[in-house]
Amino acid sequence: MFFVMENRKLGFEESLGKDVVQANRCVGCATCVVVCPFKCLEYDSGQPKLVKECQNCGICPKACPKYDWSWSEVEEFVFGRAKKTGEDFGIYKRLLLTQANDKKILGRCQDGGFVTALLSYALENNVIEGAAISGIAEDRPFYPIPKLATTPEEVLEGAGTRYCYSPNILALHEGVKSGKKSLAFVGTPCQIHAIRKIEMFPLKKYSNPLRFTIGLMCTESFSYKGFFTEYLKLKLNLNLDEIEKMNIKGKIIISLKSGETTTVPLSEAKHYARESCHLCNDFSAELADISAGGLGLKGWTFVILRTEKGESIFHKALGDGALKVRRVDEEPFARNLLTKLSKKKLKNSSRD
Ligand SMILES: Cc1cc2nc3c(=O)[nH]c(=O)nc-3n(C[C@H](O)[C@H](O)[C@H](O)COP(=O)(O)OP(=O)(O)OC[C@H]3O[C@@H](n4cnc5c(N)ncnc54)[C@H](O)[C@@H]3O)c2cc1C
Ligand code: SF4
Ligand code: SF4
Ligand code: SF4
Repeated sequence: MFFVMENRKLGFEESLGKDVVQANRCVGCATCVVVCPFKCLEYDSGQPKLVKECQNCGICPKACPKYDWSWSEVEEFVFGRAKKTGEDFGIYKRLLLTQANDKKILGRCQDGGFVTALLSYALENNVIEGAAISGIAEDRPFYPIPKLATTPEEVLEGAGTRYCYSPNILALHEGVKSGKKSLAFVGTPCQIHAIRKIEMFPLKKYSNPLRFTIGLMCTESFSYKGFFTEYLKLKLNLNLDEIEKMNIKGKIIISLKSGETTTVPLSEAKHYARESCHLCNDFSAELADISAGGLGLKGWTFVILRTEKGESIFHKALGDGALKVRRVDEEPFARNLLTKLSKKKLKNSSRD
């Protein structure tokens, strides 16, 4: 571990400020902001900003997913071993295709509604008191905001994907601050990395209430200003308020409230990917308890059960009728795509 230098704990500026933020490696997860015991950092335009003199306590460098990161150490911590060659999309127990059984969820979700169905089940059955998810801003269409959902209705309101960054760690922080004793976390792979560092630390305030994590498979996330405002609104002349749903299936499919559909080539949208995403080497949320993605499927979520925690909550929900399942070999292209996209990301930057 490098967080102590010359028996001195590292401060923000000489660690994350220099090697993560200024180096354009910051994903904007907000973990450093929430863990600072002295409230020295604020979350400003998607990045941490020092607003008070840093007390050099050395905590934020230990929680940041982009500083002093070792894949094999974290895999040892989560799975008891590092992944082997050939485990292209990480260590797992089981692969499944899943769909929510509830029609309300199917009407709002992104793919098979698995994430919403599992969280609703966990809330209804007192497995959790809250879930850190992403909601939607009232004043900007498709602008994601972290949200602490404490009822199945609130989980349902957050269903669907917003392809911009939502620092859901802020919602986890809200859950902890409000005294919730049991929480679930949903987020992109980079956020799951932050959660694992928090657990390894451990920062028990956050790790103790965490019951399970769901990682969303992720190729990249887009800048709102670039993709939504400059490209969709100004260049394509789309009224953002008229967008009903957006999904990526080889291209970006935009369903409008009028019933019409328009498509955007993924190659165009990629110009608006956030810079830190170009360095990302985890497509399938390899460190989550459960990973979920669309992978070109229609109306089903591809699920990777990775840990005992993940398997246990999944089987409870399945046994009680919240979910339907199919075998992954019924849609072989999805697993092939999972392998392809995972391998492609590994080329972005080396591991360890
Ligand atoms: C930025 C991003 C990129 C993605 N890229 C891919 C991809 O390339 N390939 C692929 O197969 N799958 C991708 N996914 C995952 C996919 O879009 C679905 O989230 C997943 O298949 C689960 O579908 P569902 O119907 O089970 O989820 P739902 O039941 O619809 O629930 C979705 C959950 O995701 C949360 N959420 C929505 N937007 C965000 C966000 N921006 N950040 C964090 N949480 C959010 C919601 O709060 C909700 O709880 C991506 C997701 C995100 C957020
Ligand atoms: S967590 Fe510690 S090192 Fe980081 S900004 Fe706060 S006081 Fe400084
Ligand atoms: S913890 Fe997250 S927000 Fe803070 S510097 Fe690291 S990547 Fe950026
Ligand atoms: S591509 Fe990687 S860094 Fe970018 S949002 Fe997805 S998981 Fe985070």
